[in-house]
Amino acid sequence: MPHYCTLIPGDGIGPEVAQAAVRAVEATGVDICWRRAELNEAIILEAGKTLPQYLLDSLEETKIGLKGPVTTPVATGFQSVNVALRKALDLFANVRPVKALPGIKTRFADVRIDMVIFRENTEDLYSGLEHEIVKDVVTSLKVITRTASMRIARYAFEYAKRNDRKTIVAIHKANIMKLADGLFIRCCREVSQQFPEIAYKELIVDNASMQLVMRPETFDVLLLPNLYGDIVSDLAAGLVGGLGIVPGANMGETHAVFEAVHGSAPDIAGQGKANPTALMLSAVMMLRHMAEVDAARKLENAVESVYREGKHLTRDVGGDSTTAGFTDAVLRTIRG
Ligand code: NAD
Repeated sequence: MPHYCTLIPGDGIGPEVAQAAVRAVEATGVDICWRRAELNEAIILEAGKTLPQYLLDSLEETKIGLKGPVTTPVATGFQSVNVALRKALDLFANVRPVKALPGIKTRFADVRIDMVIFRENTEDLYSGLEHEIVKDVVTSLKVITRTASMRIARYAFEYAKRNDRKTIVAIHKANIMKLADGLFIRCCREVSQQFPEIAYKELIVDNASMQLVMRPETFDVLLLPNLYGDIVSDLAAGLVGGLGIVPGANMGETHAVFEAVHGSAPDIAGQGKANPTALMLSAVMMLRHMAEVDAARKLENAVESVYREGKHLTRDVGGDSTTAGFTDAVLRTIRG
């Protein structure tokens, strides 16, 4: 039986990195039947709604998606399709492993960085509840619930236990948002008591940002509400070589959508400059989710081997290769 997967190439650099990831997944020999679902600004504007029905129908059938980024207009236009998709499918946990790749030259090359970020994915300031109450006065509602906070905390602790992670740090601003972040942190504390084998700490988000830059090697698992999780993910990506290499997964009870941390990168779209590593490593997470452990290992080892060799890297990580050049090198390595 093949695996069925909804492939959402997205826009900007999305189609380029999606094509690269599909080629890499297929080279592992795993049997996947892709259901391609286009999603971009033109389609959204034409459909007049954020999520076209065919996309939701496809994900309903496959339960698994591999997604490229989709552009969201800034300060005007339609709601973020990325946020809408996570809410529609209740993809409550955003999981982002941040790990240095072998041989990559970064400012922190001599430091061992290996952390996993758990970002709550359905609420917080991403509720989309904004109002202009009178002219030039706007409110934006930050929604934090016990249900969502307990769920993401449990997910992070269970992951830590399964994967032999030692420490979880919950990141918050409960000194200022005493009710909202206060509830989040109380839920994290409550869940932590059920996992005595995992050390539990808390950091205020501004201090956490500094500690991440000063001592990134001391972080193991990070647990954050939605907005801080979004910002800290990009910061952490910067520590290991940038957005081109950090993968991610949006996990729900019934559905899972795998996508890189990065956006549609309009500044380099269509130029063959995009680094497909992040989406390839997201596909590695997807293969593990499908229990295709050998295929996952093959692809992950091939990516690491191309980095170790250092001859076919894209510009963002110091090389001069194109998206296709890097992808060809990964494929050659997989095929031995
Ligand atoms: P971005 O992540 O697209 O780009 C930030 C910088 O990183 C750019 O300089 C870009 O060239 C570089 N970069 C990103 N990915 C790269 C890759 N794979 N290889 C090489 N360089 C890469 O962030 P942005 O410019 O702030 O956002 C652009 C658009 O993407 C916005 O509309 C935003 O809303 C959207 N976005 C979508 C998602 C998603 O679909 N999940 C996530 C984040 C942002």
